[in-house]
Order: sequence, then C-alpha cells, then structure tokens
Amino acid sequence: MDFEKEIARRRTFGIISHPDAGKTTLTEKLLLFGGAIQEAGAVKNNKIKKSATSDFMEIERQRGISVATSVLAFIYKDKKINILDTPGHKDFAEDTFRTLTAVDSVIVVIDVAKGVEEQTEKLVEVCRMRNIPMIVFINKLDREGKDAFDLLDEVEQKLGLSVTPLSFPIGMGFDFKGIYNIYEKNINLFSGNSKQNIEETIAFTDIESLELENIIGESAAAELRDNLELVSGVYPEFDMNAYLNGTQQPVFFGSALNNFGVRELLDCFIDIAPAPRAKMAEERLVESDEKDFSGFVFKIHANMDPKHRDRLAFIKIVSGTFERNKPYLHVRHDKKLKFSSPNAFFAEKKEIVDISFPGDIVGLHDTGNFKIGDTLTNGEKLNYRGIPSFSPEHFRYINNADPMKAKQLGKGIDQLMDEGVAQLFTLEMNGRKVIGTVGALQYEVIQYRLEHEYGAKCTYENFPVYKACWVEVDDPNHEEFKEFKRVKQKFLAQDKRGQLVFLADSAFSLQMTQQKYPSVTLRFTSELT
Ligand code: GDP
Repeated sequence: MDFEKEIARRRTFGIISHPDAGKTTLTEKLLLFGGAIQEAGAVKNNKIKKSATSDFMEIERQRGISVATSVLAFIYKDKKINILDTPGHKDFAEDTFRTLTAVDSVIVVIDVAKGVEEQTEKLVEVCRMRNIPMIVFINKLDREGKDAFDLLDEVEQKLGLSVTPLSFPIGMGFDFKGIYNIYEKNINLFSGNSKQNIEETIAFTDIESLELENIIGESAAAELRDNLELVSGVYPEFDMNAYLNGTQQPVFFGSALNNFGVRELLDCFIDIAPAPRAKMAEERLVESDEKDFSGFVFKIHANMDPKHRDRLAFIKIVSGTFERNKPYLHVRHDKKLKFSSPNAFFAEKKEIVDISFPGDIVGLHDTGNFKIGDTLTNGEKLNYRGIPSFSPEHFRYINNADPMKAKQLGKGIDQLMDEGVAQLFTLEMNGRKVIGTVGALQYEVIQYRLEHEYGAKCTYENFPVYKACWVEVDDPNHEEFKEFKRVKQKFLAQDKRGQLVFLADSAFSLQMTQQKYPSVTLRFTSELT
C-alpha cells in the first residue's frame, strides 16, 4: 500500500452550524454521493430541543446516537472522506470545540434566511484562531432569504472572514432558478426534486452568450450577469493558498434538502480541502507522512450498555499507520498498550480494522486508561497540545448522597471528567469538589449516569462563581503571587490536571484582582494553542 497516496486521498473535516441551519441534512446528502447509504434519513438527528432538557430519554438518545454519528466515513471519487460530528446544541459546545482539534478543515452551514447565528459565530471564531481552512455553504435557497450580497457582507463582518463566492444563486425562494457555478463554470437548474441523486449541469464558460436567455429567461440572465460582474469586481479571485492558511473562505449556495448545490460543494471540497496536516506537539511539529505512528484522543464515549462499562476512545491519527494488535506507547501512563479490535467507521456502521492512516479516526475500547488529550505513539514521548478547556458557565458543589457509595462516586466523577462531560475543580481550602459545566443539561446527565453506571448518588449545591480563570505566573516565588494566594485562598482550586484556577465570584472582583496582581495572568481557557 502506498502510504503517501493514502494520506493524500484523505479529507477529514467537520460541519459546523447553528442548530437547524441544515447540518444533518447536508451530512446525509454528502453520504448519498459516497453511496454509503441508500436513502436519506439514515443520519439521525442528534440535537436536543430546549423543551426536552429534563427528559432523560433525550439524554440517552443523544448519547446513543452520537456514537454512531461521531465519525461518518465514505469514499467519493477515490477520496476517503471522514466527517466528524460536531453537536450544534450549545450545551455540547465543548465537545464540538474538542472535535475541531481533530479536523483538517470545516464546512460552515448558514441558513439563508437567518444569516449568521450565535453558535456559528463562536465555532467559526475557534476555527479562525487555529487557521483552519473553511468553506461556507449558504443553505435553504429554495426559501425566501436575505439578499446574497448582504449575506456575504454579514458573513465577513460577523465572522471576521474574507469570502469569495464560488457559486452564485439565480433567484431565490419562489423564484429560485438555479446556481451558476463560478468554480466549474456551469449552470445547474433547480427542479425542486429532492429525490435526485446527481443533478445535471449545463456547461457555461461564456455567460455573455445569448444561450443564457434561453435557459433562464431574459430578466434572470441580465441579473445574473450583473451579479457576476459585481462578484468579480468586489471579491478577490479564489486563492488556494489563502484558503489553506485560513485567510480566504470560498462560499457555495444551495439547498441541502433538495440535494441542490451539494455535488458542486463536494466536488470542489475534495479538490481543494487539505489532506491530513502536520500537527504541533509540545516537543515538535509532527508531519503526517512520518512513518512512526502518533495520534491523540479527542473524544471519549461511554458505552450505552450498562453491563459493559467500557468506553470508546476516539483517536485521530496524526502520523504513521495504526495497526491492530501492535503495542503503542500511552505517553501519559508511560506504558505500552495493544488493541485487538480497533473500530473504524463507515457511514453509520463501525467495523474492526487492521490498519488506519493519518486523517482516520479509530475507536478504541477503553476501560479507563484514556482521557481526552492523551497521546499514543510508536515509542516517542510526544504530547499533542491544543485540546482546550473553556471556563465553564455554571458551577455547583457536588455532594455524596449515599455515604456507603463514596468510592463509586469518586470513580464515577473521575471517569466522567476524563470523558470531558464537565470540569472538576477541587477547592484548595477544604477539598470540596465543584463541577463546572457549559450548560445546565450536563448536571442531569452526570447525576443520571452516576446512578445508572456507577451506582452512586449525588446532590448539588449552588456555588456562585462568575468565571473560572487558569492562573499563570512566571515566578511562583514572587511576593505578589504569594500574597495573591494568601488573600484569595477561598477562591482558589485545582483542576483535573492539578493546574491552579481562580474562581472569581463577580466581574468586579475579577477586574480588581487583575488590577491588584498584574504579574498574575488569568486565562479563560487552558491550553488553547
Ligand atoms: P441541523 O440542526 O443543522 O442539523 O439542521 P437539520 O439538517 O436538522 O435541518 C433543520 C430543518 O431545516 C429541517 O426541518 C430540514 O428539513 C430543514 N432544511 C434543511 N435544509 C433545507 C433546505 O435546503 N431547504 C429547506 N426549505 N429546508 C431545509
């Protein structure tokens, strides 16, 4: 097998969007092109509706389904495409942020009527900070929406991107006639037939040709010509390097539901999207074509079956090949582990695989060895960086409600934190445990899972914290730092990795602390590089 060729044919990416913009629908249509599924409806919708926040069935449903849809792989035109699932619901945003450390590029889906929404802003910001190449897909063109140019403006302003349209809509909503593909120079007429698998396109290299009138009518032809003139006047030409280094974002228009404009998006995507890229470890930059295997855990998923309390750790392969039954170094534990049944993912199935390549995701059965961010290698001591922890939004004390089950509770909390369900802070002063989460939903998930998987019961108690800030100092023996530790003792805790965290109880106290102790750096994220 040609190692380099295998790397070059892989495309590992995530689709990000605000809930309801059409991520699930688009994923489903992309899978159709791979022939990976027979019909739409195979990708189950894994979002949680707000109204269902107290419904445990919903929680279970979410957990169950996201295993299946965590990675969806398919082959299209000889490219091996790995789509990583990124939950849109904001309570699962951390999960999405972590997944973004494992993608080589992303597609951003935007609803033509709603424009740029809140979750999109947050997720794109993370991609922008990491210079991840992005393609924008403006969806639901079969509906009445915002003017295309206004929308492009909005995308640039709200998301801080520099776009260049590679397709352009002809009409919209009721008058939606189709799309002019600037990248391929052809026209795709809209029939509104969602069943079609592959649309027919009409090659159109010269849009001045009178043929255009025959195809889309006089007024639409004139409008399209005007619009394309404006596009070429206002937007820069597509620049491959700028796309790859994250400074230019091509835009496509379409309707996922009608499978319209999706083929164009996919064809361009496999052309331009990057193959697996080099990744920074604490020790050095690791190229994807190095022969020695290395990879990192970006997601851990608990098994649905309470009788088998094992978990699936998802590893992104950065370099080399990952082979079944070969011993690999678990760097944090400094011990070798072998895996007899690594899972690969195809469409919505998983199967045991003998060899995987950079860009691929393998799922490893785990009985508690892994936590998010762990690195596996052939033997070299590497630690991949950049799995971020964000300051949680909610904080509560966690108390043991069944004194006979203290051990189970401790183990349960430990493992759930390793999975990244929430963050644990242990107060320096009295050792009390505080759980910090991004969304209130996680408290229910934790309580439920502690009881059902570990047989432990917990209660919560409010703990008014405004923000958790990771503390950094150049010199731990500095007088100012010593004073900070003494004065703020009540508000200091350690996170799971033993890093010092300051729990500010208000914006005001945070500001005062920053002013009073300028040599102490307070960060809202840990490890965002
Ligand atoms: P997600 O939350 O981003 O995964 O969004 P979904 O894929 O579940 O889509 C949300 C809703 O928008 C669903 O009812 C879809 O049927 C609908 N939808 C998706 N794409 C289109 C489209 O191109 N046109 C129209 N009219 N509706 C769409």
